[in-house]
Amino acid sequence: MPQHSKENILAGRKAVDVYRADHAKLYSKPWHRSIPQEHTPLLDKLQGELKEEGFKSLAEFFDASEELNKMEASKMYRREGECNRCGKCCRTCKYLLETGECAIYDDRPQVCIDSPFAMDYLGGLPKECTYRFVRTDYKSDLDVEWR
Ligand code: SF4
Ligand code: SF4
Repeated sequence: MPQHSKENILAGRKAVDVYRADHAKLYSKPWHRSIPQEHTPLLDKLQGELKEEGFKSLAEFFDASEELNKMEASKMYRREGECNRCGKCCRTCKYLLETGECAIYDDRPQVCIDSPFAMDYLGGLPKECTYRFVRTDYKSDLDVEWR
C-alpha cells in the first residue's frame, strides 16, 4: 500500500507547481541570474507545505508522486506482444552479452519478465522493442507525466 494518499500527492504537486512558477519569475530578472537570497524563502515555503502533506523531504514527495504515476499508468495501458530478446532495454546489466543477448534469459529476474512497464512506454521504449501498449477503458484524472 502506498504510504501517502493521492490527495496528499496532488496537494504536493500544486505546491511544487507554485514553487516552479515563482522560481521562474525570480530568475527571469536579469539581475537575479545567480542564486539569490530570495530563493531560500521559496524553498522553505515549498518544504513547509510538503511537510504539512506528510512528506519528510522533497525526495520522499517525488518518489511517492512517481509511484502514483506508475500505478495509474499500469491501469491505463495494457502490454501486448512478445520480447524479441534484442537486449536494448538491458543497458549496463552484467548479464548482457556482447551479442546483445541475456546470459540468463530463461532464469532472468521477475522485474525483467514484467518490464517494460506502462511508464517505460510513456517515457519512450527502444525502437527495437516489440511490445506494444494498448489504452484500456480506464479513465484517469491524473497527469501521469507530471514530474
Ligand atoms: S538479467 Fe534482465 S536486464 Fe539483465 S540482460 Fe537479462 S533480461 Fe536484461
Ligand atoms: S527492448 Fe523490448 S523486445 Fe528488446 S529485450 Fe527489452 S523488452 Fe525485449
